[in-house]
Amino acid sequence: MIQTPYYLIDKSKLLANMEKIAWLREHSGAKALLALKCFATWGVFDFMRDYMDGTTSSSLNEVRLGHERFGKETHAYSVAYADYEIDEVVSHADKIIFNSIGQLQRFEQQSAGIIRGLRLNPGVSSSSFDLADPARPFSRLGEWDVKQVEPVMDLISGFMIHNNCENGNFDLFDTMLGQIEEKFAPLLKKAEWVSLGGGIHFTGEHYPLEKFAERLKRFAGEFGVQVYLEPGEASITKSTTLEVTVLDKLYNGKNLVVVDSSIEAHMLDLLIYRESAKVPPNQGPHRYMVCGKSCLAGDIFGEFDFPNELNVGDRISIQDAAGYTMVKKNWFNGVKMPAIAIRELDGSLRTVREFSYADYEQSLS
Ligand SMILES: *Cc1c(COP(=O)(O)O)cnc(C)c1O
Repeated sequence: MIQTPYYLIDKSKLLANMEKIAWLREHSGAKALLALKCFATWGVFDFMRDYMDGTTSSSLNEVRLGHERFGKETHAYSVAYADYEIDEVVSHADKIIFNSIGQLQRFEQQSAGIIRGLRLNPGVSSSSFDLADPARPFSRLGEWDVKQVEPVMDLISGFMIHNNCENGNFDLFDTMLGQIEEKFAPLLKKAEWVSLGGGIHFTGEHYPLEKFAERLKRFAGEFGVQVYLEPGEASITKSTTLEVTVLDKLYNGKNLVVVDSSIEAHMLDLLIYRESAKVPPNQGPHRYMVCGKSCLAGDIFGEFDFPNELNVGDRISIQDAAGYTMVKKNWFNGVKMPAIAIRELDGSLRTVREFSYADYEQSLS
């Protein structure tokens, strides 16, 4: 048995997502790029590469990782590039998408050798969480004004529009795409490609993939563009668990267990978005609050029902630990960093990375 804590990527579950993505590419004509900011565990890129068209990025480090570890088509995007990084960004990318007209003009010469695009902000989003809403008031994410963009059309050939956020509702996607078509029609007609970004949960269980494919195809046809999607969460959803072990039990009005992990260090988004972890089947007569081992008082995975009493040494499997999780792990409290393991399609387990005291020490100086 592998020593906990560790993230466990199950390739057979990853495959289910990959097959849906491949189906969608085939039936819609859209290309699919993995959004590295969500998931950058390159140990499974060899496996994912056959089902996707490449990667998209949000920094120099990501675009380099995409180019070197994934290959195929590599899109560069960043909210802002620095003068000292732009040449290297361009060297790794097939396409560069600028967040603003200001950045496009600043780096016009350095980026002249590759395909260029601009991020548009349609001012509508599916997000109900202010923190993650690209269309929030005064948002810095993309250009809004058709009149401002028209004069720079000769510098670019396409657009990126990312305004969905955990959107599993096809009708809402459809409505917002309609709003985008209306608002940006004059620009879209002149474009050769449009990336509709990520945030669309089309690999989810009941998502109407046929309708989605048809809608993308219609959009592509109407404006004569190659459509791209940038699935992050949709690519890896439900593929990975965080495996932990119970270290201690307490009773303080509720039954508590402390495990050898921490939400602040290993599943940070639970803390940021005030969500509970998922521990299925979450049924049975024994209810426990599962707590992290950092000293943060609110370091709590959640409360779950278990079929049996929990004891020190028991293992718990926390679901959905791939997206925005492994990319955000950190050394808070010096908590032991989870290893990374892969379950192959034949069921065999392989540890692909372990972290040591040296990694902790070298993360600072
Ligand atoms: C975050 C992001 C994505 C990926 O979003 P998911 O919700 O993980 O699918 C894609 N494109 C851009 C521009 C993003 O900012």
